[in-house]
Amino acid sequence: MATTTYPPQSRTKPAQRLFIPGPTDVLPDVLAAQAAPMIGHRSDEFEALFAKLEAQLQALFETRYRVYIVAASGSALHEASIRNAVGGRVLNFVNGAFSQRWHEAAKGCDKAALRVDVEWNTAVKPDVVAKALEEALGEGPVDAITVVHNETSTGAASPVGEIAAVARQISPETLVMVDAVSSFAGTRLPFDEWGLDLMLTSSQKALALPPGLAFCAVHDRVLERAKSVKGRGWYFDFLNLEKSLLKNTTPSTPAISLMRAAGVQFDHIFAEGLEARYARHTRLAEMTQNWAVSQGFELAAEEGYRSPTVTNVVNTRGVDIDDMNRHLAADEMEISNGYGIYKGKTFRLAHMGEVTEADMQRLFAAMERYLHQAG
Ligand code: PLP
Repeated sequence: MATTTYPPQSRTKPAQRLFIPGPTDVLPDVLAAQAAPMIGHRSDEFEALFAKLEAQLQALFETRYRVYIVAASGSALHEASIRNAVGGRVLNFVNGAFSQRWHEAAKGCDKAALRVDVEWNTAVKPDVVAKALEEALGEGPVDAITVVHNETSTGAASPVGEIAAVARQISPETLVMVDAVSSFAGTRLPFDEWGLDLMLTSSQKALALPPGLAFCAVHDRVLERAKSVKGRGWYFDFLNLEKSLLKNTTPSTPAISLMRAAGVQFDHIFAEGLEARYARHTRLAEMTQNWAVSQGFELAAEEGYRSPTVTNVVNTRGVDIDDMNRHLAADEMEISNGYGIYKGKTFRLAHMGEVTEADMQRLFAAMERYLHQAG
């Protein structure tokens, strides 16, 4: 069968609409790539697409290990990580709503899940990990630890490279599993250099793809562990995924349209250059933090550990956030209210994906108009 050609690629970018921490705006030609006619997933064309994505994902994760591509959102990989890597006990570091969700997933999988609470709005620090791990090891082996790199609910980012180093030193057999859902492709997260065992992410955040795909870098150590773990299920069984990956395919029907979109978007990401992409995100984060402070707000996340992709602003001016969003909607823009318990108390400005400085300026101007008018 003739190869289906993608629509011509162009990075023409309309003004950003979504300043929420996912889904983020998707470039028009990436959206259009999903409209290409269907192909069979046991075809040469699909295998070529899979191989291209796999190579690009390995470059993004900076890993020589495999990256699984699954038709699911990131939360599914919370569950998959636990079901494959944990036979005995897992230590979940909880400093926000998403790290808590990972803990809930571990409990839901009926594992011995030990929760280590860390104050919200702060980062998980290596010394806290060392202490908790040593304590837990006093009562037996710990199969894995879970840490969220970028807590989207609070805007705090944890030093996962340093965490992995201390954990490895204390307990080489404990697997280090990281959620990079809302920071991946917005900041450098070198999987191999940091000695991580598993890192998962979703498509709809800084990767600027539609929701529905999740990606997970997996070290050989995890596959070895999986062999002895019972109850891995089928859909997310890494040993199953591995067999297919070696043939450039997936065990079940993949999300072909989304994968086509990923092929186009990954090309855009590499055309921009990873260094330039990460530097842009750093600039946008600084710009947003400075703007918030200049408007008399405070920043929720601990200094020195602020997220490169989402800024959580304390609503010190008592703004009606829903009303501000209605005002922004007139200009086709949207921000996020505080997450869960922080609703009304904070608001979140996301600067991830394809967002530019000009986009942020446009948002700030519209917010300033609202703040001025609301007094
Ligand atoms: N982890 C983090 C840090 C998140 O921000 C989110 C979603 O916002 C998730 C996990 C869940 O990801 P998904 O919605 O793709 O299941």
